[in-house]
Amino acid sequence: MRFDVVTLFPELFAPHLTQGITRRAFESGQVDVRLWQLRDFATDAYRRVDDRPYGGGPGMVMLAEPLEAALAAVQADRGAPPAVVHFTPAGRRLDQALVQEFAAAPGAVLLCGRYEGIDQRVIDRHVTHEISLGDYVLSGGELAALVLLDAVARLQEGVLTAPSHEQDSFSDGLIEGPHYSRPERLAVPGGAELPVPEVLMSGHHGHIARWRRECSLAVTARRRPDLIVAARAAGRLSKDDERYLSGLGL
Ligand code: SAM
Repeated sequence: MRFDVVTLFPELFAPHLTQGITRRAFESGQVDVRLWQLRDFATDAYRRVDDRPYGGGPGMVMLAEPLEAALAAVQADRGAPPAVVHFTPAGRRLDQALVQEFAAAPGAVLLCGRYEGIDQRVIDRHVTHEISLGDYVLSGGELAALVLLDAVARLQEGVLTAPSHEQDSFSDGLIEGPHYSRPERLAVPGGAELPVPEVLMSGHHGHIARWRRECSLAVTARRRPDLIVAARAAGRLSKDDERYLSGLGL
């Protein structure tokens, strides 16, 4: 898959594409990320990519012409892109279902806004997806693009040593339960010792799986009851799950 990122700050990407578990996907080209400096497509001698908004008001707007030229260059290089994403607080909130769609698709162009945003005519002509990270305002779309790239890369085959993403939060619509590692008993100030839940030391895979499932149901019911409603509606809760939830009074 190939992602073409149109940005004023391509240098923000390298640190994230060359570190950590997802590095393999980026360095092998499994997730091929090409960076396009928008300023290279400016049409004036000052390499200007923003100007004041028509109608007045604060801030600057990203000019349509450099963006049109950048998109034309991307298209000339790769052919018509399968999707053009604009990151904006007005978009659909990014979630794991949307990440899974992109992880199974051939890639996209990612438009990173800055200033007050992009000239609407470019959005109207080219954008297929508008994506938001949440109800807050960032100073640019680069972090949103990196979030999408990271989430997509870790779902690619061979990126994680074990298919641990299958147990991650949201992969089955629920939030994942707690994790424990060594020591078996954690000494804390005051002399107390915090043990690991006994079932995890039992070696009984069936009991451990059931305990993990129940932790996942409990944390989801407490923090995101909407996800329980959705899982129920999608038929993803077993009879045992329902029995456990009704024992919690849910
Ligand atoms: N004037 C815009 C508004 O009120 O919605 C905010 C512009 S923001 C300062 C600059 C750029 O950051 C946006 O064009 C967008 O690309 C990106 N951005 C800001 N918040 C975002 C969010 N929650 N999700 C995705 N992108 C965001």
